[in-house]
Amino acid sequence: MNPRRVFIKKVSLGAGNLMLASSVFSFISCDDKGKAYEENNKKTENMIPEEKKLGIALVGLGDYSENQLAPALKETKYCQLKGIVTGTPSKVDKWKKDYNIPDSNVYSYENFESIKDNKDIDIVYIVLPNALHAEYTIKAAKAGKHVICEKPMAVSVKECEEMIKACKEANRMLAIGYRVHYDPFHKEMMRLGNDKIHGAITSIKAENGFKLSDNAWRAKKELAGGGPLMDLGIYCVQGAIYTMGQNPIAVTAKEGPKTEKEKFKTVEQSISWTLEFPGGVKAECVTSYHDKYDLLRADAEKGWFELAPAYDYSGKKGKTHEGKMDFPDVYEQVFQMDDFAQNVMKNTPSKVPGEMGLRDVKILMAIYEAAKSGKRITLDL
Ligand code: NAD
Repeated sequence: MNPRRVFIKKVSLGAGNLMLASSVFSFISCDDKGKAYEENNKKTENMIPEEKKLGIALVGLGDYSENQLAPALKETKYCQLKGIVTGTPSKVDKWKKDYNIPDSNVYSYENFESIKDNKDIDIVYIVLPNALHAEYTIKAAKAGKHVICEKPMAVSVKECEEMIKACKEANRMLAIGYRVHYDPFHKEMMRLGNDKIHGAITSIKAENGFKLSDNAWRAKKELAGGGPLMDLGIYCVQGAIYTMGQNPIAVTAKEGPKTEKEKFKTVEQSISWTLEFPGGVKAECVTSYHDKYDLLRADAEKGWFELAPAYDYSGKKGKTHEGKMDFPDVYEQVFQMDDFAQNVMKNTPSKVPGEMGLRDVKILMAIYEAAKSGKRITLDL
């Protein structure tokens, strides 16, 4: 059995207890942290009856939906998988069986808009190639559904603005699938950086890359909007910002060489960039579809702190100049979706809203502009 699954069972806790859990983490030992999670978990078990959980429909049944989000929805306490939207009829039977989904909650892309009449579905989660995020987010909002949209929010600033507008007009909530905001290691980076625990940050390094194994949509500009920057580099942009606790004011960038010219015909193979923050602190970042990187590091006046690996679903490791960070592996997507479900139930703002997705897409576009022009691009965020 996957060891992560075993531990996840122990550590899944209601989003309502996240604050408690994260504050508990700050001053107790590792063993006790596991126990604290278990205790919190017990308290939230059966907190809300099945029929009161919000219904989520996943749009796009690819790798992320199948292997991360749908299994997470078996562990969520405030929402559950109630519907699917797919263009591949051969997938339907298995999903219906695995998740107990009735025929009436199965949609194709052609009849997706009729989801507006389905009272089982409260939230639509867009898990499609990036260039389709805007179209389906807007359709979902117009159908009266709250929306979670995967990262990157869209492939242009204009699309992001239109998505926010459509959700506002329909009085629906919009959040981006920024899962690491729900991870204790990343929350610790935020705490150490924002509260200046080791003094003010003097520099940041953020690196994320893997070897793209095939020539799928991720390497096609018309579907992905760009290369690894859109897919992986966005984690570096996010990491630098939430560790600093500030938005950057300017960017410079340089595209890397293309050693696989055929594969990366329309997108970059790798790109490095520098984010400048107010006061002159810089974040040096790199992303690649060819080389492996996985780091978020901050150097500060009185020490340093880092995650490596930083962005994987599990197995993150954290260190400071004082020693190891001790946090459990959590199922980030469980917390992420439960938090949004609670936002909808209580009408409270998401901590990863559409506006954050828009900010990040503005930065990604500025990075491309800086790489193309060779100029320093100032950011107006
Ligand atoms: P995938 O290729 O595995 O799945 C994409 C799905 O979209 C497939 O089911 C495919 O059939 C469907 N699709 C519909 N129209 C399509 C079209 N015109 N071309 C290609 N596919 C089409 O991709 P994925 O890894 O599941 O990624 C989907 C989204 O989720 C992306 O936006 C990605 O950035 C995001 N994602 C986020 C995370 C995260 O950790 N937050 C992780 C992986 C993926």
